[in-house]
Amino acid sequence: MDYLPLFCQLKNRACLLVGAGDVAERKARLLLDAGAKLTVNALTFTSQFQIWADEGKVRLLKGEFSPLLVDEKWLVIAATDSDVVNQEVSEAAEQRRVFCNVVDAPESASVIMPSIIDRSPLMIAVSSGGNAPVLARLLRERLESILPQHLGKLAQVAGGLRARVKAHFTDAAERRRWWEKLFNHHRLAQSLANNDDAQSGQYLEELFSEPVDKHGEVILVGAGPGDAGLLTLKGLQQMQLADVVVYDRLVSDSVMNLIRRDAERIFVGKRAGHHCVPQERINEILLEQALMGKRVVRLKGGDPFIFGRGGEELEALKAAGIAFSVVPGITAASGCSAYSGIPLTHRDHAQSVRLITGHAKQDGVLDWACLAQGQQTLVFYMGLTQAPEIQRRLLENGLPAETPVALVENGTSQTQRVVTGSLTELESLAKQVQSPSLIIVGTVVSLRQKLNWFASETRL
Ligand code: SAH
Repeated sequence: MDYLPLFCQLKNRACLLVGAGDVAERKARLLLDAGAKLTVNALTFTSQFQIWADEGKVRLLKGEFSPLLVDEKWLVIAATDSDVVNQEVSEAAEQRRVFCNVVDAPESASVIMPSIIDRSPLMIAVSSGGNAPVLARLLRERLESILPQHLGKLAQVAGGLRARVKAHFTDAAERRRWWEKLFNHHRLAQSLANNDDAQSGQYLEELFSEPVDKHGEVILVGAGPGDAGLLTLKGLQQMQLADVVVYDRLVSDSVMNLIRRDAERIFVGKRAGHHCVPQERINEILLEQALMGKRVVRLKGGDPFIFGRGGEELEALKAAGIAFSVVPGITAASGCSAYSGIPLTHRDHAQSVRLITGHAKQDGVLDWACLAQGQQTLVFYMGLTQAPEIQRRLLENGLPAETPVALVENGTSQTQRVVTGSLTELESLAKQVQSPSLIIVGTVVSLRQKLNWFASETRL
């Protein structure tokens, strides 16, 4: 270990910053955030320093650096643009045994500043020991993106509860389980994030009154159409917290790779030569797993509430009294639209969009006369086998034969394929693509010629 990570309490402690340019400004901001009593020594100051001085937040000392300035300080930062001055500051601090950070010169510093993820009071510091600052920054960005903002608030709430928890549970193991329950309480986290103090308070009281043994819950998560980058941050967090993930065919491998490694995975999709697991059985599996006290993530392609049977699954859970929540996903229509350069609405083309199931087989279920009206975009899910029917009905009801159509296969993935033509060609185009494919009908399809930007590996 080259450096020992420490968190310094700088509140009202005298610190010195030498230099007052842009880089120094960033350091000053950090020290001020930490509550330090800051003296800034430089020849010239940026206007921000002047503002801070006018607000009484910093003391400015204009002039050459003098080693005497280091006396009585807890921490010194050398941030001038002169290596010579920075070195002088560092040596003065070394002689006086005051910790010193030198900007861009970790070798002459006794302290280096980490990249930080601030969810105060929770702090995460990342450092490469000065070897690879860019790597540390990338790591910080990743951590930033997976750690929800409300964590800080949760930590703060926990701080306020420590005495009560200690008094309430005498058994240390029980206490630990209670804390785990608190930190895994998804709905409490949500109410904290929403600043809903009344609801948060109620959840906390429930936590105190409930027996400590775990209750399971189900989180319905939309996995998006394929590209893992389209997963929501919240969806990713849930996948990282899951005990078990119940998933089906539409969830892409790249999304599956993001599931917590130790989580159990249950596949409930259709495998070649086998039938789908019936919906009732899926409902049962969710129930069984939740009743075992597990945190179950039900992962579904696209958005769970758009042709995803999410509603049916939740109804079954509700009937059994199992807690649940829903994380939306990017539905295939949005994903395919974006990645094929076909906006679903456009002022010159379509004022509304319809998301339609191709599985509504019985006559009369779909209002074809309505669907054949212009100025709208039709998006058919699960429409491949019904393509001849869709073509015939729309033509019969007066949609012009030359209306452009697009079929997007495996939208948003590296294997995305898009075929386009006119409504009269829909049936034959449908034979050129495979499931999962989306059918888009409307004059917006013509915009693809101009707006296509996504070059997948295989294209027609
Ligand atoms: N809940 C999903 C839809 C499930 S229905 C969502 O919101 O996207 C299944 C249908 O969605 C497929 O038959 C296909 O029409 C469409 N679909 C899902 N993912 C797709 C993708 N990556 N590319 C094209 N179509 C897709």
